[in-house]
Parts: sequence; C-alpha cells; structure tokens
Amino acid sequence: MDRVIDDLIALGKGLSITFKNYLEKPVTKQYPEEKRDIPKRARGRHVLHRYNDGLERCVGCLLCQGTCPAGAIYIEAEENDKENPVSKGERHAKVFDVDLLRCIYCGHCEMACPTNAITLENNTALAGFTRESLLMHKEDLLEPEGSSTLGTTEYWDPKPPEDLSHRVPAQTGEFDGSSTSAAAVGRGDLDLNKAPKKPTRKEGDNA
Ligand code: SF4
Ligand code: SF4
Repeated sequence: MDRVIDDLIALGKGLSITFKNYLEKPVTKQYPEEKRDIPKRARGRHVLHRYNDGLERCVGCLLCQGTCPAGAIYIEAEENDKENPVSKGERHAKVFDVDLLRCIYCGHCEMACPTNAITLENNTALAGFTRESLLMHKEDLLEPEGSSTLGTTEYWDPKPPEDLSHRVPAQTGEFDGSSTSAAAVGRGDLDLNKAPKKPTRKEGDNA
C-alpha cells in the first residue's frame, strides 16, 4: 500500500511539472520565419568591407590568410591600377576565398586585419547541399557598394582614451605619415602630403 502511495505522489509531482510548463509561453522559435536575437559579437559568416567611397578596405596583405589556424582563407593579391584603383593600398585582393567548412570561426582573421576589412558577422545560417556552395568567393563576401560598414568591429574595438600616446590609426583616423605602415595603408583615404609634422606615434613607444 505504501508503495502505491509513493508511486501516486511521484506521478503527481511529474504531472505538476508537465502542467506547469503546459501553461507557459513556448520558447520554440519557428525558424526560419522567426529568428533568435543573437549577441552583437556572435561570429557568423565573413564580410569584406568597403570605405564610404566604394573602394575596398582589403589591401591584399595576406595577414588574415597567414594567421588562420584552419587554412580556410585563400587570397591572390594584385597591384592596383593607379588610374582605377580597387582598394586604397598598393594592392588589392584579386581572389579572396573563405572555405566555411574549414573555418572554426575563431575570429583571428578579423583581429589580424590592419584595415578592418574582414569581420565575422551575425549571419549564422550556414548550410548547403554541396561543398562548393560553402566555398565563399570575394563576390559573395564583399558588401554591396553604397553600404560601407565597420560591422562587428564597432563592438570588438573599444574606443581609445583621448589622451592615449600611442593612437590607433584605424580607430582615430590619425596616422603617422608613413606610407609603408599598415596603418597608413589602411587609412589610405588620408592624404600623405598632409601628414602631421610630428608623428603621433613616438619612437620607442611600445604601449
Ligand atoms: S575565423 Fe578563424 S578559422 Fe575562420 S577564416 Fe578566420 S582565422 Fe580562419
Ligand atoms: S588582413 Fe585584411 S587587408 Fe590583409 S588580406 Fe586579409 S582582409 Fe585583406
């Protein structure tokens, strides 16, 4: 008899949980019509960014390819035609492929990029029926002309303090006047002839 009573109590407890959840609002999302809000720093598919004038931020330096631990990036760089440049540096990426099946979404490529050209954005709908459909080419990754953005860089890069001695050119728009520095290339929309006489970056400043 005792056993029957114990079983009935256990059954009652179990059903009480069932009825409690039955009355609550469902948490299931009707994907893909209904999408979940995901964090601003979520790492989804890569995007290649432009400057406001439409030129590409990527200067084909291969730093992202070199730093990628998964070998997911393949770039072929090409010299810019001075009359009709594609990017603001000396070179641009003629070929820029990202293999989404190799990528582990670590974000090293966006951290390595001196020009904020590549970011991982919140497009996480990454599925395909063939391997080829998950090999992204430059035309798939490049944001459309007229929609230049910094993407998730805005959320990853904290704003530098105003009195920082070692300014970060990509964030402040300042550069040290060196045409060969990655920073100067990255902010290639600045006129080298108007470089400040005193460099904003001091010698021996490792901060
Ligand atoms: S997120 Fe990581 S694994 Fe993916 S392409 Fe960038 S560096 Fe490579
Ligand atoms: S690190 Fe940036 S600028 Fe250099 S090749 Fe990669 S995306 Fe282009």
